[in-house]
Order: sequence, then C-alpha cells, then structure tokens
Amino acid sequence: MSVDFINQTLKNIDEKGLKRSLRDVSGKQSRRIFVDGKDVLNFCSNNYLGLADDVRLSKAAEDSLKTQGFGSGASRLVCGNLDAHRQLEKKIAQFKGSEDCLVFSTGYMANIGIISSVCTRDDIVFSDRLNHASIVDGIILSRATFTRYPHRDMDVLEKMLKEAQGYKKKLIVTDSVFSMDGDIAPLDKIVSLAKKYNALVMIDEAHSFGVLGKNGKGLAEYFGVEKEIDIQMGTLSKAAGSFGAYCCGTKEMIQFFINKARSFIYTTAMPPSVAAASIKAIEIIQSESRRRCEVLANGDRMRNALKQMGFDILDSCTPIIPVVVKEELVAIEFSKKLFDVGIFVQAIRPPAVPSGTARLRLTVMATHTKEDIDFVVEEFQRIGKELCLIL
Ligand SMILES: *Cc1c(COP(=O)(O)O)cnc(C)c1O
Repeated sequence: MSVDFINQTLKNIDEKGLKRSLRDVSGKQSRRIFVDGKDVLNFCSNNYLGLADDVRLSKAAEDSLKTQGFGSGASRLVCGNLDAHRQLEKKIAQFKGSEDCLVFSTGYMANIGIISSVCTRDDIVFSDRLNHASIVDGIILSRATFTRYPHRDMDVLEKMLKEAQGYKKKLIVTDSVFSMDGDIAPLDKIVSLAKKYNALVMIDEAHSFGVLGKNGKGLAEYFGVEKEIDIQMGTLSKAAGSFGAYCCGTKEMIQFFINKARSFIYTTAMPPSVAAASIKAIEIIQSESRRRCEVLANGDRMRNALKQMGFDILDSCTPIIPVVVKEELVAIEFSKKLFDVGIFVQAIRPPAVPSGTARLRLTVMATHTKEDIDFVVEEFQRIGKELCLIL
C-alpha cells in the first residue's frame, strides 16, 4: 500500500503553518528548565505546586523501588493489584471525602473509560464546547448522542436539557478549570440544572485538584457542591506533580468501573513507585497549604499586571493565564521573543483553540518568585508594545 497519505498530510499541515514539533527539555521539571539547551524560566508547566521535582516524591518512589521493584506485572484484575494502588485509592478517597476511589493510569484513560462505560447509545451527553479532548473522545467512544453547549452558557444548556426527550440517561460533563482559558465552570448552576432535569454530573478536576478549594480538593469544594456531583474525576499529573488519575464516587460506582471501564481493565497497572510518589504528593498537598496560597497569589499578581497593561486575558481567574493576540503568526513571534530573553511560554493556535483566538498561555507555579513574575510582566509590556498589541 502506498504511504503517500503520510507525506501529503504532513505537507498540508506544514503549508498551513500548523506543524507541531517537539522541543527538547532536559534536567528537572522545575521553575527553570533547559529547552533546546537554553536555561529558561518555565511558564508552561502544569506543575502548579512545584511538586514534580520535590525530593520527597523521588524519595517515596525510591523507597518503593527497593521493596516493590519497578514493573507492576499485569493489569489490576489479573495479578497487578498491588498494595500501593489500594493505599493510594484509600488516601484519595479519604482526602476527597468520598466513599471510594479508583485509580487510572492517565487522565486521558480515566475520561474515555468513565464516559464510555456510563453512557450508551440510548443516552445523551451535554458537554461544554471547550472541554478537554479526552472527554470528547470518551463521548464519541460511548456512542451516546453528543451535544455541545457554548462555553459556560447555562441558558443554552437549560434549553438543551429541556428539549432532550426519549433518552435513558442524561449526563452533563465539564472541565472544572478550562485548560486553554483558565476560567472555571459554573458548578453551582450546573448542579441545580442537573437536579431540575434529572441529569448526572461529571467533573474533570485536572487543573483544580490541589489548587482550588479551601483544602485543595478542587472546584467542587470551592463551590461547596461535593455531595452533589456524581462522578469526580481528577489527575495526579498536574498539581500533584506525579502521574495517573482518579475517579471518586460511591462504592457501587467504583465496582461498576472495575467491571466496565475498558481503559481500566485492559491495561497494565501503574508502577507501584508512581503510586507511592502520588501518596506522598497528597500528603504534601494536605500539610502545606502555603503552596496553594503561593500559586494563587502569583496568578493574581500576573493577571492584574497584564490586565492593567491592556492585554486580553479572557475570564481567567486561575494559575492558567491566556494572553489572546488573535493572529497565529503574532503568537509565534511573541513566544520567540520571550524565549530570546529566557522566558518559556508556548503559543497556542487553532485547532487547539477557536480560530482568531491564538494566544500565549502562561501558567504560574508556587515556586516562581515575585521577581520572576515581575520580569515576565515587564517583558510582556516591552514585546506587546513592539508588536503593537498594547499602547
Ligand atoms: C491534562 C488533562 C487530562 C489528561 O490527563 P493526563 O493525566 O495528562 O492524561 C484530562 N483532562 C483535562 C481537563 C486535562 O487538562
């Protein structure tokens, strides 16, 4: 068979200026990183609390390696259900105040496994238009009727719920913090609509676990609606600085996923050292609330300064701060100029975001200093003026 389609597709992507390529990063995932050999300030990572390179996580993993070895050997249902997995699940359930918990190997796998087992072709799913790709893929895999409501638009969501007749189940699913916009889902309103129209609610706390809520439990805690959310999914790969994902729910729900979620059943269990590092990360999240305060304060400082200069940062209210410059080439140019002065911020372009909304996507960490933030702000002002984006 001819493989022309590969070259043809690459050529098409390249001609549109949309070719993605990998940057070489070396050293630890930290406040500063080496990108293509250059030492730069890191304003791209989801390592919000600075735990990815915390020695306590490495130590927990090392200790586990000594007693439990590296590989897990099999899927959880065969002979890979190790002590570390159940300990991690107990730890998360206790922290989140939920009845039970199930760990998946990644957030992507959690979402496709959860949604495709909860929903069938007789059901309908209501999904925020800006939800993460893994949610979209889970819905497609489920074969349920897939409806998208405009971003955070509760009037349209209500209209859709009202009009949805003849389905067995209705599921509303939303990111808690939107990964490209840094704004939050109106969970209080979603929960009351779900009650009114008898729908299930699922949230994805990928960017809020460890960051939002009084105790860092996420957006459901922030809104005080933890008991009203049926399925609470989140990841251990962002603020927790580790790898993997969880789903919290009732005991029966967890049994259901163990029996039905194919991305849980047909895959090898995570290495025990990864689970051990995650347990340590949650202990740190529980005992060091100052990290949460620091990342939120850094976000406020950065957002206020950029807004004051006249940049469009949408409705960001989290450590994710988009700076919308509209034109793709301007975003790329901006990112390059930042890199030249030692600041690493990725340009985000369509199709990752709607066309005409190309942007720089900044993420702040607890470990950034005030000087780091102020330096970035100054450079944004200088380059923003140079590119005629601000006055
Ligand atoms: C990152 C992310 C995921 C995927 O999690 P991984 O553990 O990286 O696979 C899922 N949902 C959202 C909203 C995310 O931002």
